Amino acid sequence: MSEKPSIKIYNTYTREKEVFTPLLEEHVGMYVCGPTVYGEAHLGNARPAITFDVVFRYLQYLGYKVRYVRNITDVGHLEQDSDDGEDKIAKRAKLEKLEPMEIVKLYTEAYHSVMKKLNVKSPSIEPTATGHITEQIEMVESILRNGYAYESNGSVYFDVEKYAGSNPYGKLSGRVLEELLEATRNLEGQGDKRKSSDFALWKKAAPEHIMRWNSPWGAGFPGWHLECSAMSTKYLGKKFDIHGGGMDLMFPHHESEIAQSVACNACLPANYWMHNNMVTINGQKMAKSLGNFVTMNQLFTGSNPLLDRPYSPMAVRYFILQAHYRSTLDFSNEALLGAAKAYKKVINGLRIVKKFTSPESWQTDDALCQEIHKLCDACFDGLNDDFNTAITIGHVFNLLKKINSFYTNTLSLTHLNEPTFLRMQQTYVDVVEHILGLQEEPVEKVDTFVEGLLDLYKDAKAQKQYDKVDKIRTYFKSEGIVIKDMKTGVDWAYEE
Ligand code: ZN
Repeated sequence: MSEKPSIKIYNTYTREKEVFTPLLEEHVGMYVCGPTVYGEAHLGNARPAITFDVVFRYLQYLGYKVRYVRNITDVGHLEQDSDDGEDKIAKRAKLEKLEPMEIVKLYTEAYHSVMKKLNVKSPSIEPTATGHITEQIEMVESILRNGYAYESNGSVYFDVEKYAGSNPYGKLSGRVLEELLEATRNLEGQGDKRKSSDFALWKKAAPEHIMRWNSPWGAGFPGWHLECSAMSTKYLGKKFDIHGGGMDLMFPHHESEIAQSVACNACLPANYWMHNNMVTINGQKMAKSLGNFVTMNQLFTGSNPLLDRPYSPMAVRYFILQAHYRSTLDFSNEALLGAAKAYKKVINGLRIVKKFTSPESWQTDDALCQEIHKLCDACFDGLNDDFNTAITIGHVFNLLKKINSFYTNTLSLTHLNEPTFLRMQQTYVDVVEHILGLQEEPVEKVDTFVEGLLDLYKDAKAQKQYDKVDKIRTYFKSEGIVIKDMKTGVDWAYEE
């Protein structure tokens, strides 16, 4: 694709919708904050993953080369996102009587398995915080050299007040430093920080702390915000195109990332900041810390008191995509059931449109062709306007209405012309399957199908309908299955 459409992105940093212009033509760098792997993935983890999966897919579809980095946080994320709580992973390890790295492996694999079910593409690079300790130490040294941090009793803190003196600290999250200082004034003088608004770049490890590394300041571990700055710089450069994540990460995480990167590299890290909104339940944020969350595996199996029934991974993906990523997404069984039904309509459309074959002759109706082209354009208009999947899905349904009319012969494909026919087919498949990432879910109950066919086989045999018997045998054989007629009855086995 040579001529790329203009895409608008709502930039959280400038609070404006801006035309997307990559730093390097044809090449896009994108960094998204991934999960802290200390528990099972839940809806709050799935939303950013799916949101940025669509961004990744669409940019690639348009012909951009995208380097998509999504990290795994496996150290340094402390309770309450604070500088003094217990490490979330170490805490979980203690609870489960495992090594922290066993927890990391367990939940990284669980996360990957959920992502696969949701048809979320793997990022180009998936770096871990523990794998980049050297880079993080180097970044701390450089921030110290530049005068924006100080060492205190084996820990290193970022000097927020000094930074804010010459930089717009708080611009992303809309926080005002004075208010932050005011709110936490009575905590002043506690611990090793000079000011409560300062944040840890490196923390001294208490003697009982298992996750520790040597550093110029003694044994310790990196602050949570630091990994993303160090790893995005390493893999995408000092300045890259898109930085994404959930809205709850804006402060302190992303605000701190910006401060660290500017203090180290003297430039803002990302050109566009994108934040997906929260998943809510009865208007309240769904979060692990609030205990009102549903894990993805509970959704897939229906095993949570909040759920009336299980919902398939693709129904959940559809549920997430039917809302624009900047809107809140309210969880309810009604909404999920609605999504499950709508998803099936879209997929039935996919099966129909893939089976359409080009007519041999045409009696072109120009008005109809124009209408189809407009419907196809509209599907992309939604995507080009800040990746608005809600609008796109609406237009996919408009296109589907036409497709169904052709399917039921209310309209005839011969009234199109070849380019229009091909565009309709291509657009539906591309948007649904390749960009929204909605795919047909295999029917899981294969056994039930096989048993049903075996019953037909038994009936045919009993009625001595040998042509039918042979037909069923041949069909089974073509699928690598042999029917076994035994004294004890009929069974099947894989052909050896
Ligand atoms: Zn991050």
